[in-house]
Amino acid sequence: MRYISTRGEAPALGFEDVLLTGLATDGGLYVPESLPHFDLEEIRSWRGLSYSELAFNVMHPFVDDAIPADDFRKMLDETYSVFAHKAVAPLVQLDTNEWVMELFRGPTLAFKDFALQLLGRLLDYVLEKRKQHVVIMGATSGDTGSAAIEGCRRCEHVDIFILHPYQRVSEVQRRQMTTVQGENIHNIAVRGNFDDCQRMVKESFGNQSFLGGKTQLAAVNSINWARIMAQIVYYFHASLALGGPDRSMAFSVPTGNFGDIFAGYLAKKMGLPISQLVIATNRNDILHRFMSGNKYEQHQLEHTLSPSMDIMVSSNFERLLFDLHGRDGLAVKTLLENAAKGPVSIEAYRWKHARKLFDSDAVDDKATCDTIREIYEQNEYLLDPHTAIGVRAARNCRRDQAVPMITLGTAHPAKFPDAVAESGVSVEPPLPAHMADLFEREERYTVLDNNIDGVQAFIAKHWKNA
Ligand SMILES: *Cc1c(COP(=O)(O)O)cnc(C)c1O
Repeated sequence: MRYISTRGEAPALGFEDVLLTGLATDGGLYVPESLPHFDLEEIRSWRGLSYSELAFNVMHPFVDDAIPADDFRKMLDETYSVFAHKAVAPLVQLDTNEWVMELFRGPTLAFKDFALQLLGRLLDYVLEKRKQHVVIMGATSGDTGSAAIEGCRRCEHVDIFILHPYQRVSEVQRRQMTTVQGENIHNIAVRGNFDDCQRMVKESFGNQSFLGGKTQLAAVNSINWARIMAQIVYYFHASLALGGPDRSMAFSVPTGNFGDIFAGYLAKKMGLPISQLVIATNRNDILHRFMSGNKYEQHQLEHTLSPSMDIMVSSNFERLLFDLHGRDGLAVKTLLENAAKGPVSIEAYRWKHARKLFDSDAVDDKATCDTIREIYEQNEYLLDPHTAIGVRAARNCRRDQAVPMITLGTAHPAKFPDAVAESGVSVEPPLPAHMADLFEREERYTVLDNNIDGVQAFIAKHWKNA
């Protein structure tokens, strides 16, 4: 399998190199040159498989001969055995034909574990083979950081530096990052917001001279192709559990960087019958504004009760734009260069095509709280604020009651107790047993100014062989 850049100029790469590369050299994102396609009979034959067996079938074409099949199988078995539920991604029913897929049974209680538990193992496998070392540098508004740290804590060939906005992530989220012990784990709290953190990461990837040529940066943010790949699997898993592929499914996806929902779009293109994909955003609604008015325009960042979706631009949206433009990299490049300067639109027929693929909704904090309370009152089931946005958008956008509507449950409610309290539900969501002592564990992090030179100097000084 070969991978090409969405901006059309960077060289095509194989799976191993795509794994280790962040942004392509032309500023684009890597996507598969062509997608595997499964017919209904083949998908049907996957009924009853364990999660990791299904994961092998869905992902193997992307990995191809980069990893021998037996090694990849073993890696997947290990990856999904760390989840605290036998079904890995259990489905919970809310109402007739309405479901939540719980993607928060992994070590850090958010869906990002699905990809990052695998990514850590993939990286270490490839680096071991190549006798190389990497520094993972990432920015997090909360969930990515802890999932990346958990995914890499046992990697021998990786040091990981995670930047989070100082005092802008929930206490549970911070503790999940800062209490993980390991020589190769480094938490940096930046006096700034998430976008400041992200900008420093981006710039560091653009110029890695601060590492003195002794190691290289690797990305674990959602632009890393392997993360998208791992997220395709659970769309197949949900469908097969509810009578697919002989009936189609609808999915509602709490969306920030457009990674998770892009995986759903790929599942559909790979042959899975999906009749509706709902983009659910909070008040940081650039995607909803684009879908409803064909105007792609950055607004000020808003802080909401769903901080993992507090972003101004959705980096993975570029991957969809690439397809909407007939995979014309130059057109994408021009469009996004213009988008950096001001609002842009795309040709009407392309936009109409996007509207056929996706519905969208923006849900504010009040509606988020109302939904948490409503579902609790109806079902005694607690939603986290991100999942609540998905459920609300699913209800607002639903096209066909006969089609099962599945909201991706992206985080465990215990990660966001403040939002649950604000909703008026008087029970406190308990942390699962494996995290019950989180508030007693010792924390380790360094607070640094919002200044790239200081951050880079810190990294240069603290990685393993520095
Ligand atoms: C990361 C995250 C999201 C957004 O996912 P994207 O792939 O960035 O769209 C939604 N909910 C939670 C809880 C998250 O951690």
